[in-house]
Amino acid sequence: MDLPLDSILPNEPLLLMGAGPVPVSQKVAMANSVVINHLGDTMSQVIERVRLMSQYVFQTQSKHIIGVAGPGSAAMEMAITNLVWPGRKVLSIQNGFFSARLAEMAKRNGAEVTVYETPVGQAANPEEVEKLLQEHDFDVLTIVQGETSCTVWNRELASITQMARRYGVLSVVDAVCTLSTMPLEMDNWQVDVVITGGQKGLASIPGVSLIAFSEHVWPIILERTAPMPHWCLDVRLARQFWEEKGYHYTAPVSGILALHEALRQVCLETLDKRFNRHEVCSIALQSAVEAMGLELFVDTHSRLNSVVGISLPQGVDGKQVLSTMSKQYKVEISGSFGLPIVRIGQMGEQSRAHNLFRTLHALGMSMKQSGAVIDLPSGMAALERALDVNDTVTA
Ligand SMILES: *Cc1c(COP(=O)(O)O)cnc(C)c1O
Repeated sequence: MDLPLDSILPNEPLLLMGAGPVPVSQKVAMANSVVINHLGDTMSQVIERVRLMSQYVFQTQSKHIIGVAGPGSAAMEMAITNLVWPGRKVLSIQNGFFSARLAEMAKRNGAEVTVYETPVGQAANPEEVEKLLQEHDFDVLTIVQGETSCTVWNRELASITQMARRYGVLSVVDAVCTLSTMPLEMDNWQVDVVITGGQKGLASIPGVSLIAFSEHVWPIILERTAPMPHWCLDVRLARQFWEEKGYHYTAPVSGILALHEALRQVCLETLDKRFNRHEVCSIALQSAVEAMGLELFVDTHSRLNSVVGISLPQGVDGKQVLSTMSKQYKVEISGSFGLPIVRIGQMGEQSRAHNLFRTLHALGMSMKQSGAVIDLPSGMAALERALDVNDTVTA
């Protein structure tokens, strides 16, 4: 049997402008093609550097940065399973699909879970969180920085995690789509666990994720007496590899090398410049989408920049729009989990002027073909105006 991959891969790579995975740089792709010994001196040096660069990217002095062989969800599960066991009380702040997953994981680990659900498309309100913290005696609070599914930004994240610390509650922040695209200061904001994946904000490959634990939460993890149902996700075992150069399981060496390169690019660009590039590009895209005659799903207060949600006009079939974009224009964006929106990612290499022009054009043409009333020239002009003055930032 001969089943060449070429026969199913597109002739020309599609431009990945959805909610992840995102395009990777040549350096990341090259690193991902290398296999080295998972133990030994070279790997130890790689791990040391990944931890060092991660401290900068997570904005933490904590040494407890651990990699996970698995998707962002595996890092979420590692956070939950190490902090949550039967009888623990968890407050889960829910804005959508991914924040609901954290609640589900906490339940599966035997916690008593209280869900604070925000209205669709809205950020969490710190006053309501504080009321819940006063009324209950929680052990853990879970929250997403950016809810990718409905494109909401929990703008008040810092005040919520600092509040959690004041109430003696451990905070877990899902930053899978946001880390390195917008500020997240783990230490200053007193966050206990930050979760990220490879294939979104960090612009690495899917399947290898990072998680950072604060110095504050570390002793709680080490001193745990409740049984630990997971083996791969047990931080006390994972630290044998990540902190002590020993063996836990065979690490995903190629993916860690890719992550090394992705982190290195963040460090070279610097966080401030990278945040600025993402903001300028995303705001330009948002204004162009509106100038074209479409509506954004979330209002400005709660709107996430890392993933932009666009409401489907009445009668327009989202699946058809995505299919036209992909087949005719070789640009892929994302649908949604049940909401009448399509989503465009602004993570890593997605936030570049040339990718925005191509994507906006493809979106406008495909929307038109599906029956939407679109003023494409106005949209393109708005994008050009918004990016023009910033062309050194967004190239
Ligand atoms: C994508 C995403 C996840 C899950 O990541 P996977 O790699 O698909 O498991 C979790 N949280 C957020 C906010 C995400 O965007």
